[in-house]
Amino acid sequence: METSHFDVIILGSGPAGLQAAIHAARRKVSVLVLGRVHKSSAFSAHIENYCCIEGAAGEELLRQARLKAEQSGALFLEEDVTELKKEKRFVVRAEGGKTFQAKALILAMGVSRNTLGIKGEKHWVGRGLSYCVDCDAGFHKGEDVAVAGCGSAAVSGALTLLFYAREVHLVCDALEVTDYLNEKLRESAIHLHEGKTVVDIHGDKAVSGVSLNDGSFLAVGGLFIELGAKGATALLGNLGVALDMETLRYVTTDKKQATNVEGIYAAGDICGPPWQVAKAVGEGCVAGLEASAYAKKRGS
Ligand SMILES: Cc1cc2nc3c(=O)[nH]c(=O)nc-3n(C[C@H](O)[C@H](O)[C@H](O)COP(=O)(O)OP(=O)(O)OC[C@H]3O[C@@H](n4cnc5c(N)ncnc54)[C@H](O)[C@@H]3O)c2cc1C
Repeated sequence: METSHFDVIILGSGPAGLQAAIHAARRKVSVLVLGRVHKSSAFSAHIENYCCIEGAAGEELLRQARLKAEQSGALFLEEDVTELKKEKRFVVRAEGGKTFQAKALILAMGVSRNTLGIKGEKHWVGRGLSYCVDCDAGFHKGEDVAVAGCGSAAVSGALTLLFYAREVHLVCDALEVTDYLNEKLRESAIHLHEGKTVVDIHGDKAVSGVSLNDGSFLAVGGLFIELGAKGATALLGNLGVALDMETLRYVTTDKKQATNVEGIYAAGDICGPPWQVAKAVGEGCVAGLEASAYAKKRGS
């Protein structure tokens, strides 16, 4: 790495960060991207609903995006950022101990999805267990499916699944939704298992059923876990970056992907749902253009 001073530093090597890198670097500013491509949510996904491709492995999409960003002039360091500070410029410390300075930052660290936390949960991901109805509903046409969750994401997800699945079960400890969604749910054909939780997942090669805490069993070919997500916002405390008032989980931005802190932009899942590649890429493009324009305007 030739210099520790960059015009733009991007935190995150997922679709948002990589698209931001492509657009910023093509504006002839110096760009460093931190984070690991294989830690992107898209890495192990099969993406079917992104325009311009017929369907592709996330890993391959990310490989091509990284190549494009490198060809555009961005530099990469596959390390996480452990500390951010604002001095005259932004100071970024990576996990290996190197520090870098930047005129502008782009936050594209994604989210970590809340899990059920039950035994074997990880094993079933991609084998009938999904954390994203919008992404994977189409794989369950004509099947019976279950959704675990109590909030608006779970109820909206279950309503969406009615268009694809034969029977939809919603397993929920205690519903926490608006009156409007509650009414929609009660009017719908969704089987509501209130006061219950999923305690075990069964199957051979793929999910074939779930057990609930009252000892009952639902024979389903798909389980959607819709328990919300946490943005990777722990790093931002020092900088005073504003989070959304409703959940305090996501970074808020304006239409230029600018946060409340001058010189800091954000893009992708970290800005809140829908968690989709198309949104991440669109926001990354805007953030890359805006951050590079800001860095140029700021001069030295
Ligand atoms: C199983 C699954 C299936 C999916 N299927 C689809 C689908 O079919 N269609 C669709 O559109 N979307 C799908 N998604 C959602 C999609 O993957 C995300 O919306 C998208 O990856 C978001 O991009 P992002 O760049 O915001 O975040 P991510 O892709 O999650 O990337 C975040 C990046 O930030 C990095 N990072 C985190 N912390 C730090 C740190 N401290 N310092 C530096 N870097 C850091 C990570 O290493 C990673 O590189 C799916 C997701 C999952 C989990």
